[in-house]
Amino acid sequence: MTPELHAKLTEWRRHLHAHPELSLQEKATAAFVQDKLAELGIPFEAGIGGHGIVATLTRGHARSRVGLRADMDALPITEDTGLPYASTTSGVMHACGHDGHTASLLGAAALLAADSSWSGTVDFIFQPAEEGFGGSRAMVAAGLFDRFPMERVFGFHNWPGLAAGTIAVHDGVVMASGGRITITIEGHAGHAGMPHLTRDPVVAAGHLIVALQSITSRSVDPLDTAVLSLCTIEGGTAPNQIAGRVTIRGTLRYHREAVKEIILEGIERTCAGIATSFGVKVTPEIVWGVGVVINTPAEAGLARIAADKVQAELRRDLAPSMAGEDFAHYLRQRPGAFVWIGNGELRHGAELHGPRYDFNDAILPVASSWMAEVAKTALASN
Ligand SMILES: [Zn+2]
Ligand SMILES: [Zn+2]
Repeated sequence: MTPELHAKLTEWRRHLHAHPELSLQEKATAAFVQDKLAELGIPFEAGIGGHGIVATLTRGHARSRVGLRADMDALPITEDTGLPYASTTSGVMHACGHDGHTASLLGAAALLAADSSWSGTVDFIFQPAEEGFGGSRAMVAAGLFDRFPMERVFGFHNWPGLAAGTIAVHDGVVMASGGRITITIEGHAGHAGMPHLTRDPVVAAGHLIVALQSITSRSVDPLDTAVLSLCTIEGGTAPNQIAGRVTIRGTLRYHREAVKEIILEGIERTCAGIATSFGVKVTPEIVWGVGVVINTPAEAGLARIAADKVQAELRRDLAPSMAGEDFAHYLRQRPGAFVWIGNGELRHGAELHGPRYDFNDAILPVASSWMAEVAKTALASN
């Protein structure tokens, strides 16, 4: 990549960083992307599944077609970086580096637009609402793969804690799926001095929280991966009244769909048991995520070849993450691979979703080049 293009991408990335928008609200970000695509002379369609955009480049006579994806949304986090290009919107921050992903994909488009050495069609997917708001699902529901019939799809996430510019490619599972759980316990409220006239949901909640810990330790195979974290508990208003209701909320994660069923069965069984034991009503509600991110073998191979071609350090030995990624939804429709590109040293507070996080502009060239290269490699492999 030329120093001029790197400087331009850095400027674009910092502009996006200073103007973050929450999931489903990426209006100005989408307008910015459209502006830059127009500047690069690349045709696009906007308004796909919300603020989604797909730009398309076609070269030569090859009929194969490949997709590259970046996400565009920010998080409800207050930035604490002190950077000159820090967020200008209070309480909203690009704390996951989607500003960098968007700039990298624009960079890949610029590289491929200026490159005559390939043949086929590349779709550049700029996706909104990745942070738990179903952006990939919305784009697929809006006909992404019918309107742009790509055969494979690739993407990346920047990875703090992995050396800057190193590319990690997993064989198989990359990131977890899971769900958000809300458990409501309804009892009968009453005088704290006369508990026999009540059904106490707080005592039931205590037993339930302890009992639920056994699912991951006793029901799930120890060689499998599962997390069930109960993170909030609310109930009661007065210290001398037994509460009528308790609400517990949390999250669960897994790497294999079969484990999801075991966790679900465990939650239902445990909730029913506690309800019977304590004479309360226990209702678990789970909103499931989009699925586990699993690279297909051939495409993981293409991702590695591309990493080699851009002379990036390659890692194949990293364990999958328990974080989720809605790229999983694309991988349910098409073969593909999702890689991690090192963002450099992991500093306290500068983890993904941390208030001091910042995308490393030094990795823009490798990220853009890898995306462009993996598209060319995939097109040439057909
Ligand atoms: Zn995130
Ligand atoms: Zn992210």
